[in-house]
Amino acid sequence: SIPLGYFGGIGAASKNGILFKGSNFLDSIAQISQVVMDKTGTMTEGVFDVQEVHLQPEFLESRILDFANALESKSTHPIATAIKKHVGEIDSSIALENVEEIAGHGLKAQVEGKELLVGNFKLMDKYSIPYSIDPSGIVYTLVAIAYEGKFAGYLTIADRIKADALLTIAQLKSMGVGITMLSGDKSNVVNFVANKLGIPNSFGDLLPEDKVNKVKEIKAQKGTVAFIGDGVNDAPVVAISDVGIAMGGLGSDATIETADVVIQDDKPSKIPMAISIGKKTKRIVW
Ligand code: ADP
Ligand code: MG
Repeated sequence: SIPLGYFGGIGAASKNGILFKGSNFLDSIAQISQVVMDKTGTMTEGVFDVQEVHLQPEFLESRILDFANALESKSTHPIATAIKKHVGEIDSSIALENVEEIAGHGLKAQVEGKELLVGNFKLMDKYSIPYSIDPSGIVYTLVAIAYEGKFAGYLTIADRIKADALLTIAQLKSMGVGITMLSGDKSNVVNFVANKLGIPNSFGDLLPEDKVNKVKEIKAQKGTVAFIGDGVNDAPVVAISDVGIAMGGLGSDATIETADVVIQDDKPSKIPMAISIGKKTKRIVW
């Protein structure tokens, strides 16, 4: 039979919007030594706004932003929402062919028979598009556009750090757990956010499989891992962590399904709360 204390623990958690999918995860989270987290949508709102548009002179008068908007309408990435908000209604007369979403990079298609690329500068590099700016010098997420093999320009977009993110990190530190941030976003943006929050370890430019490998490495070197993420790209890493935690509000269905624990209101401060409920439950049970 399940000891009474577990019901108390699961109940206390659920009253706070933390769903444990089994009482065993109360035990595992109580003993966790490392907390590893995604950035976008986990520690930040995951809602981007376009800040600046930098187009090359020969593209200033063109319909390039309409093309980019049309292509982004095929994606569910938060970046797509930001572009739609900025550019406006999608021009349905723009014919897109061979639309491809390239994981960790962006999108590719043919528009009026010519190749259109919308994504990060890794995407530009992948298709050998020459450009003359240094993306690593800009502390914003960037969306680059290329048309017909030519660099057309880029947009800077920004996200906001969640209100309780700083408190979350302070609480985790006082519990003595190690903290690491992993993200698919540009390294300098990831390091900037980590720095602001006081997260000692951070890695960017990671593909979903790179996140999995990093967590495996942390498990091997430092101990048990609780991973918290929200995106589809976080489902594999949530699955292999000792305790996989999903943001349940704006999080993707696949990640919520795979997780052991779901935070319904997307507040990161529920992570230290879940750990302390786990610890209290253990004290009552044993
Ligand atoms: P994350 O959501 O953590 O940034 P992803 O793997 O979803 O991770 O994406 C990694 C990067 O790939 C994004 O930060 C962005 O630069 C680029 N990217 C992905 N999808 C798109 C898209 N639809 N439009 C533009 N860029 C994209
Ligand atoms: Mg995310």
